[in-house]
Amino acid sequence: MTPYKDLSREELLKEKENLEQQFAEIKAKGLKLDMSRGKPSTAQLNLSMGMMDVLDSNADLVCEEGVDCRNYGVLDGIKEAKELLADMTEVSPDNIIIYGNSSLNVMYDTVARSMTHGVMGSTPWCKLDKVKFLCPVPGYDRHFKITEHFGIEMINIPMHEDGPDMDMVEEYVNNDPAVKGIWCVPKYSNPQGITYSDETVRRFARLKPAAEDFRIYWDNAYGIHHLYEDKQDNLVEILMECKKEGNPDMVYKFCSTSKVSFPGSGVAAIGTSKANIADIKKQMTIQTIGHDKLNQLRHVRFFKDIHGMVLHMRKHADILRPKFEAVLSGLKNELGGLEIGSWLEPRGGYFISFDSLPGCAKAIVAKAKEAGVVMTDAGATFPYGKDPQDSNIRIAPSYPTPEELKTATEIFVLSVKLVSIDKILEDK
Ligand code: PMP
Repeated sequence: MTPYKDLSREELLKEKENLEQQFAEIKAKGLKLDMSRGKPSTAQLNLSMGMMDVLDSNADLVCEEGVDCRNYGVLDGIKEAKELLADMTEVSPDNIIIYGNSSLNVMYDTVARSMTHGVMGSTPWCKLDKVKFLCPVPGYDRHFKITEHFGIEMINIPMHEDGPDMDMVEEYVNNDPAVKGIWCVPKYSNPQGITYSDETVRRFARLKPAAEDFRIYWDNAYGIHHLYEDKQDNLVEILMECKKEGNPDMVYKFCSTSKVSFPGSGVAAIGTSKANIADIKKQMTIQTIGHDKLNQLRHVRFFKDIHGMVLHMRKHADILRPKFEAVLSGLKNELGGLEIGSWLEPRGGYFISFDSLPGCAKAIVAKAKEAGVVMTDAGATFPYGKDPQDSNIRIAPSYPTPEELKTATEIFVLSVKLVSIDKILEDK
């Protein structure tokens, strides 16, 4: 296909007329399709329904350590749940705290505690003139909302195909004591589906932070969320890597079973050094007597062990793979060669990230909405909702059916083409 930029004005106008007609036809169908949030579909939720049966009124509700899970106690999680989530996050059960159902909540708490009480005895961030976080972009909007909420200044760090720009990360972290953290989704990242390379992880571990209370917020939300059996990304385990480099306390690893079991009723955890765990527990003991142990038990009885979880994730992959393929083939067939957008083909996770010509993303999302397709707001993948290039759009293919996705992608590519033609005409 000839790149749009090489077409004459007349050719572009003719193409536009043709596309507008197609758009009007599809718009007339009055569709309602949602590609905005990474929600598992009902079929995926149904995969875990067995969890409703493992604890009935006759079940033994006493955990391995002999505690009745219906009662108070066990602040940091029952032993068998620690083991399961430790295997999921590739750390020792001694390095795990089990929380409630949401890892985002744990991240919020972690920032909040650092603001009010400081990290391991260092000055609480609220007493400092300036606190900064590095934000690899595009990234996860809800991370950015947390740091924005606490008035933490966010600095954009460009993502490359092997992870964040590490020259920039090193420059900021090693020289600016106001830089206290970095948001990372290191595997099948939200939204690009990128996995950090071995060298990127090692450079993280070798950081020499100017701030003693600098922490890497390593949100491994998609650690076991592969789409393929034969093509899987591997991520170097960072807690051990940091330990080897003499930075044992530098990382908090977050995870949850939100997209393994139920997003509304999963189990979340933090994996970190024993010193960080002791620091966190000082606050936790004030905050709660313990999280939902019945849910922890239910998860362990249902999955049994990490192997059970891995097998379960294959069933998720079987549902998700055709959806990703529907979107990716639509993009490739309709936009390939036109030079009006680029995207990556993730091997896991929940998203596809699309980059339009600069200055077009907002208009594309608005155009798609006209025909009934809801996308994540353009800009959401950047701190403060501001994409300086106005080019990144996050596509979430998990919820609609493959057929719906095919139509939604048709509408999306038509929107991309129409907006891009206007942009090219404007610039000609
Ligand atoms: N982190 C990332 C990167 C996510 O994409 C999501 C869900 N969209 C979450 C965290 C939310 O996790 P939880 O349900 O455990 O709060």
